[in-house]
Amino acid sequence: AGRTFPRPAHTRVLTVANQKGGVGKTTTTVNLAAALAQAGATVLVIDLDPQGNASTALGIDHHAEIPSVYDALVDGTPLADVVQACPDVEGLSCVPATIDLAGAEIELVSLVARETRLAKAISAYLASPEGAGVDYVLIDCPPSLGLLTINAFVAAREVFIPIQCEYYALEGLSQLLRSVEMIRSHLNPELAVSTILLTMHDGRTRLSSQVADEVREHFPEQTLRTTIPRSVRVSEAPSFGETVMTYDPLNSAALAYLEAAAQIAERGAQGSR
Ligand code: ATP
Ligand code: MG
Repeated sequence: AGRTFPRPAHTRVLTVANQKGGVGKTTTTVNLAAALAQAGATVLVIDLDPQGNASTALGIDHHAEIPSVYDALVDGTPLADVVQACPDVEGLSCVPATIDLAGAEIELVSLVARETRLAKAISAYLASPEGAGVDYVLIDCPPSLGLLTINAFVAAREVFIPIQCEYYALEGLSQLLRSVEMIRSHLNPELAVSTILLTMHDGRTRLSSQVADEVREHFPEQTLRTTIPRSVRVSEAPSFGETVMTYDPLNSAALAYLEAAAQIAERGAQGSR
């Protein structure tokens, strides 16, 4: 408590992506967002998954009638009209996802500028009085490489990949990297994989450490020093509409997320991406 991190000179937009399901994308998005906000940053989470898990974890109302990221993507509603403040953490807000978003993947196909809609919405928000002063935008992606994730890749400068410390973790990673490369060459030349975080590390198994070593070997620059340990408190927190950062701040995973957030903030301050 009471820690502050250096704030970035410009808003950093990070897309948290991995088409593999259940690797900790949402958990990482909401806990890093909470940690950064608790340390003094202004943070916006965009829930881009029709499951709406990030909205739930942040205690944000997202039943079917609530204006959401769907309205921004499909109807061009300004983000300022759909954003909600997170009740537990000052400086943290969220654009919720509702079940409507499940249809967006198909509805977007026939719309003009279908890949750049989120990018436009975010730029307009950051240029508006409501969005001025936002330090970080974190986008929580669904477990696919469809149009929603493509919108997130076009909107961001940094790709953040959570990797679960288990055997199949590296399968599918090359496909993810190819997608990033494709978006970089056709739609967003600024995009790069800036950060990799190892999640759900189980210190009792050799497998967890082997996977962690292998990831570090391939991505020495991007992989954060901190790994996130497994902890039941992390999985309990969302049922209370909270992140583990408020639910159990001294828990080992909460402390690890705080440390990871500090590393991310420091990297930004050094000017690296
Ligand atoms: P999806 O692909 O469905 O969006 P995801 O990649 O967003 O999944 P999460 O929902 O964050 O993954 O995590 C998957 C499950 O693992 C959840 O039940 C979550 O509570 C649990 N989990 C994530 N991190 C941890 C951890 N450090 N310790 C224990 N459980 C965890
Ligand atoms: Mg998720």
